[in-house]
This record gives sequence, structure tokens and C-alpha cells, in this order.
Amino acid sequence: MRTLKSQEVYIPLKDAIMQSGVVLPDDILLGIEKAKREEEDGPALSVLKHITDNLSIAGKKHIPLCQDTGMVILFVSIGQELIIEGDPLEKVLYRAVEDAYEKGLFRKSVVEDPLKDRKNSGNNLPPVIYYDFLPGDRLIIKGLLKGFGSENCSRVFMLKPTDGREKVIESVVSAVRDAGGAPCPPVVLGIGIGGTMDYAAKLSKKALLRKLDQHHPDPYYSDLEKEILDQVNATGIGSGGVGGKTSALGVKIEKFPTHIAGLPVAVSVNCWADRRLEISL
Ligand code: SF4
Repeated sequence: MRTLKSQEVYIPLKDAIMQSGVVLPDDILLGIEKAKREEEDGPALSVLKHITDNLSIAGKKHIPLCQDTGMVILFVSIGQELIIEGDPLEKVLYRAVEDAYEKGLFRKSVVEDPLKDRKNSGNNLPPVIYYDFLPGDRLIIKGLLKGFGSENCSRVFMLKPTDGREKVIESVVSAVRDAGGAPCPPVVLGIGIGGTMDYAAKLSKKALLRKLDQHHPDPYYSDLEKEILDQVNATGIGSGGVGGKTSALGVKIEKFPTHIAGLPVAVSVNCWADRRLEISL
């Protein structure tokens, strides 16, 4: 067994959150550059150039790359041979989120009660946290700073078991088409297929943690990722929703067994500000 003091999580997580809100992962930057090369001169190319100018300024000045600095989503995987000592781990996770948002001058975007008075919590707490266990003695935390212009375009479809592949594609493409420019395209789509209604939604977020070039290991599903990407780009929504060749940078699927009577499909829509983080301790 290995021992880890929970306080040792604080600085790496805080720093990863602060970095994530300022600099996009390399695969997303490459995806945006590819979209620029493929776009014809016009409004969509202009949007992409503004995005890269904006990213350049954010990086140089160490300021948030978007005014919506998102709600933090963390996937915390705990090795079965790891003992975590000290303060409760969740308390340390909360402190890292709070301090990252304060020190990074990130907008606090979380309201305490979703319906009643919607008072801002003032510290971007709480994050949404999913826990699971892994073999080994590591603590791995992956996360997203999830903007809500795109989150509001996410959908769950409870399809019939006989609906099949074509209906899955049609449903996802309809969600993107209905959203138009609202989710700040070019988008990245995380798709969860199977499980239950809620589990499919969780899978769709988990899918967003993967890099653009990390395709599903099962060729059936990697083909499906490509087919959905092609159909989404064929909508012509384009960057910023102004019409163009690239509406999505990538599509990533996670799947899980499901009940004989159902076919849950969830799509989490992320924007070009696809802010991911990962630490391993
Ligand atoms: S959807 Fe994304 S790019 Fe648009 S405002 Fe929100 S965080 Fe920023």
C-alpha cells in the first residue's frame, strides 16, 4: 500500500485548473489550426482567426481564454492500493477549485440554489465530482472547465432498442443542428451510449476527457465517431454558427451495456473552449 497526504493534491490540482482556463490542450489547438486551413476565406475563417488571436492574448497575458470560465467537473480515480491521509480528499478538491478561481481571476459562475434565488456561491463551488476505483496505487484526476453556452445544448435521448445506429446518428446531429451557433462552434461532442438515462449522461462527459485523436478502440464505434463527425460538419453550421466547413472538431463515444428494453444516448456538447485537465499522483 502507498500513502498519499491529501494536501499533496492541492497545488497540482489548483495549478492544473488555472492552466486549463488559460491555455487549451495541444490537440484542440491543432484541431482549430486544421479547421483554419480547410476553411475558405469568409466569416467562418474570420471567426477561427479571432479564436486563435484570443487564445494567443490569453496565453501571453495569463488571463482566462473565455469570460465563461465554466463549472468544474472532476473524475477522481483512486487506486485500490492507495491510502489517503489527512484532510478529507473532497475538502482539498474544493479548496483547489476555490483558490484557482480566485487567483486566476476566473469568473465565479456557480449559483447555490438552481431554482429558488440563484445566489452566486461566490467561489465557483461546488464542483461536480465523480469517483471511481482503479487497480494500483495512483490517484488520477481528470477534469473539465465546462462552459454553459454549450452545456445548455446537451441532450439525452431514450431511444427504442430497435432504433439502431442510424437513429443514434440522427439524434446527435439533430441536437447539434438545433443548437446552431449557441454552443460556440466548432464544438466537441462527447457521446454516451447505453447504461441508464443518468449513466449515459455521465459517459458523455467521460468521453469529453479523451483527446481528439483518441478514437474508440472498437472499430465499430470509431467508425461511428467518424460518421457522426462527417454528418455534423455536413450541416454547414460552421465556426461561430456563421456557416462553414467545420462545425465540430471531434466526436468521442463511450459505451456501456444496457437493458434489453432501451437504448439511452446522451450527447454532451462542448465549445471550442474545450478545457481539460489531468493530474496523476
Ligand atoms: S460556450 Fe464556451 S466559448 Fe462560448 S461563452 Fe461559454 S465557455 Fe465561452
